[in-house]
Amino acid sequence: MKLGALEAGGTKMVCAIGDETGRIFEQVSIPTETPDITVPKLTRYFKERGIDALGIGCFGPIELDKSSTMYGCITSTPKLAWRNYNIVEAFAEALHCPIGFDTDVNGSVLGEVTFGQARGKDCVIYLTIGTGVGGGIYIEGKLLHGMLHPETGHVLIQKREYDSYGGKCPYHKNCLEGLAAGPAIEERWGRKAAELADRTEVWELEADYIAQALTGYILTISPQMIILGGGVMHQEQLFPLIRDKVTQMLGGYIQADALKDMDNYIVPASLNDNQGIMGCLELARREYAAGQ
Ligand code: ADP
Ligand code: ZN
Repeated sequence: MKLGALEAGGTKMVCAIGDETGRIFEQVSIPTETPDITVPKLTRYFKERGIDALGIGCFGPIELDKSSTMYGCITSTPKLAWRNYNIVEAFAEALHCPIGFDTDVNGSVLGEVTFGQARGKDCVIYLTIGTGVGGGIYIEGKLLHGMLHPETGHVLIQKREYDSYGGKCPYHKNCLEGLAAGPAIEERWGRKAAELADRTEVWELEADYIAQALTGYILTISPQMIILGGGVMHQEQLFPLIRDKVTQMLGGYIQADALKDMDNYIVPASLNDNQGIMGCLELARREYAAGQ
């Protein structure tokens, strides 16, 4: 089967052609401008390659409820040109093939459970900590949507007294994204996050905030594995700090074997940064199979 994959991001669109085994034959990246400029380039790419189905992992918020008239739209994004743009409709009209559609982070968690280290698990969280913070949740073998889709980056966090930074999220003063995404780190400390590698206080505080959120997810969702990706997690010293803090915050309450092996419980992404695009191949495969 020839499958198309589109990782639709706020700064770039990654397009790939692959198959149901997760193999990627070719891949290109196109800058995200307005839909008028960008979408025709994308549809042309896929049309020329004659795909059987397309999977789109999209920046959000997006409408995933198939019974809604807005299904397939990017909704209240700050990128105004894309607000209420129906990306699924645009591709369906141009390509006449099944279009799988989900959040970018659900795409990433699907990549990891289908082709990566989380294979065989049926409850997994993938969290990206980059320009923003977002999370995909795979639960009981399905991607979680619920009312809309989870917004795990905006859970509220207890700010530490010694942190005088006001927070970057326009909606919440003390959510995970507002306190711990890359731009918040950079504004708080006045340097590029990558240049702060040797400042232990930066990563202690960062790990504290991430661990608070993970502790909440563990208590609510009971995941079998938590995968952390995104630019900020290139600071690998964060992993042991986060694992220790989560263990402390849980206070020994949860008795589960997985938590005794933290090194294999809170882990980096496993697919060389291809988890998102590979997940889109699986979104395409699933949509194709659903129509058979
Ligand atoms: P996006 O979230 O836009 O898809 P990334 O996941 O690459 O992109 O995240 C970009 C953010 O990650 C930037 O805001 C930057 O602060 C941060 N970042 C990128 N590289 C590093 C690094 N090596 N160490 C720490 N932070 C980084
Ligand atoms: Zn927020």
